[in-house]
Amino acid sequence: MNPTALITGASRGIGRGIALELAGLGWDLVLAYARNEAAAAATAADCRAAARAGGREIRAVTVQADLARAEDRATLVTRARAEFPRLDLLVNNAGVAPAVRADLLEAGEESFDRVLAVNLKGPFFLTQQVARWMLETPAALPAAGGATGGAPPRAIVFVSSISAYTASVNRGDYCISKAGLAMVVKLFAARLAEAGIGVFEVRPGIIATDMTAPVRARYDRLIGEGLTPLRRWGTPADVGRAVAAIALGLLPFSTGEVINVDGGFHLHRL
Ligand code: NAP
Repeated sequence: MNPTALITGASRGIGRGIALELAGLGWDLVLAYARNEAAAAATAADCRAAARAGGREIRAVTVQADLARAEDRATLVTRARAEFPRLDLLVNNAGVAPAVRADLLEAGEESFDRVLAVNLKGPFFLTQQVARWMLETPAALPAAGGATGGAPPRAIVFVSSISAYTASVNRGDYCISKAGLAMVVKLFAARLAEAGIGVFEVRPGIIATDMTAPVRARYDRLIGEGLTPLRRWGTPADVGRAVAAIALGLLPFSTGEVINVDGGFHLHRL
């Protein structure tokens, strides 16, 4: 039996990068998306192909769910449970930027509610449901022949952002949502440690995706001027590799840990 992961925001960008990495490792996948069915289907096909290239067969199932909606979160978990007997990894990756970057003194409640609902409330309550499911199933994945052991430990990942600690006064709602997510990580890490479920915050920096496309020229300039010690854009695969390390159980004595995938952006320099 392959280990199974549920990844939100898997149709595009970072979520797609994470899905492709896990597919290459032979993981079965539940790929959640909001609206972009064609992109989700393409990711699923590419994941199956990536697994096959490594001599493995995986299942990749797509599920539509708006994470801001409680009914959709429930449907997502119900569909995942119908398809797979257990879940080994949840990756809370889906997120939105504010539709308009508004100054802190002008920013409106509508944007605040939307960004907080998708980026903070959605992952919190989805994780609550998934954690209950994980706790119902045995900790170790049964190996071929029915024996247990040798499988990676279960884990939950939250994809936050450098915005969890960096003040951008033209998108305060986004920063607040990611700072809140950092506390969600600590809470679930403390709650689920006794069950052997590791909880991690993966904190990307500037990653080339649709989300950053509107500000590409500005970030090109800033990166060129040395904003990040590693002077390049991050890629979805960079984030995928960090999640793969967690999935493989390579951090066995860590939980509640922050993993920066930001080219060194977080370093204070003088
Ligand atoms: P992206 O390219 O815009 O992709 C967003 C993904 O989230 C898509 O799969 C989208 O599905 C899904 N999504 C959007 N709204 C949703 C909703 N209401 N319910 C469920 N799914 C929804 O974004 P990205 O750059 O890959 O970002 C992924 C995560 O990384 C986000 O949490 C983001 O905040 C974080 N992050 C990104 C960067 C960066 O530089 N790109 C940096 C730090 C952190 P559809 O395709 O169906 O619309």
